[in-house]
Amino acid sequence: MRIHITYTGGTIGMVNSPHGLAPGADMLGWLHGLLDGTQIGTDEVSYTELDPLIDSSCATPDSWQAIIDDLRSHRNDADAFVVLHGTDTMSYSSAAVSYALTGFGKPIVFTGSQYPLGMVETDATANVTGALNAVISGRAHGVSLFFGHHLIAGNRVSKVSSWAFEGFDAPSAGLLAQTGAPWHWESYEGRGEGWYDPLPYARHDVAVIDMAPGITAARLDAMLTPRPEAVLIRAYGVGNVPCTEPGLTDVLAKVLDEGVPVVVASQCQQATVLLGHYEAGDAIARAGAVGTGDMTLEAAYAKIVFLLSQGLTGKDLAAWIPRSIAGEITV
Ligand code: ASP
Repeated sequence: MRIHITYTGGTIGMVNSPHGLAPGADMLGWLHGLLDGTQIGTDEVSYTELDPLIDSSCATPDSWQAIIDDLRSHRNDADAFVVLHGTDTMSYSSAAVSYALTGFGKPIVFTGSQYPLGMVETDATANVTGALNAVISGRAHGVSLFFGHHLIAGNRVSKVSSWAFEGFDAPSAGLLAQTGAPWHWESYEGRGEGWYDPLPYARHDVAVIDMAPGITAARLDAMLTPRPEAVLIRAYGVGNVPCTEPGLTDVLAKVLDEGVPVVVASQCQQATVLLGHYEAGDAIARAGAVGTGDMTLEAAYAKIVFLLSQGLTGKDLAAWIPRSIAGEITV
């Protein structure tokens, strides 16, 4: 089986520098050492190092597109794909790639690590061998993410710990597989409508705003001035906002009236957003806000940027939020 590895940066390949951890390890040499003597020969593996290698905190939609371009350009050279990525925004990238490559037809698994590969206590070895095992298993489909013994759908996953080896989870969707001898696989398979021939990702002005007790209408309005192209509100529970704060829901209604889509997610890691279930979410639902259902924040954000990149705006964009492109939401 031919495997293509795309190395984008992240702690996994970092070394100490005078200003903290920065890319610099010999990733290809380390990979060869890891594969030597295993059932995956080094001559079956192709490798791209993106330029520049980045801390994934610095990623933008252009970084997502660079990964997509590399995967596409090696589509015919390999049977399976592994992306080495920083953990901080890996779940944004894996969701973004899932929307753009719905017709790819070959497994893509993201992974990274909490410790650099050069440290004796590193989790890089377990995570990269886990990702490789997932792609050669014949059971991984679409885009997924392997980390700390768990394989999770790439558009259902969140980083849940800045230090734990089991640093990613999918509280709403569950796992695809768990390591062991043998691995234990779940039957979950995300279904989506797909997207034929998508336009590349471009940067867009999406405001992500958290609700907090005491937020005022004036502050919310200030954060939305000038108007962004789309708003992603992190509300409470099933999509509730402070309903007795004078003028607060009016601000969102005005933004909607001006043609800006307002998408409402939850601050809960495990959530199903049901706008209008409570009076506290009803006014914004009536004004035209749409809920993210059981999508993660990362999947919702990447989906909004994907839809804007396809030229969709306003109600046309909002209409796609409850629909599944690549299995990111339970319909
Ligand atoms: N800041 C790093 C990154 O996301 C963290 C990591 O990789 O664990 O690139």
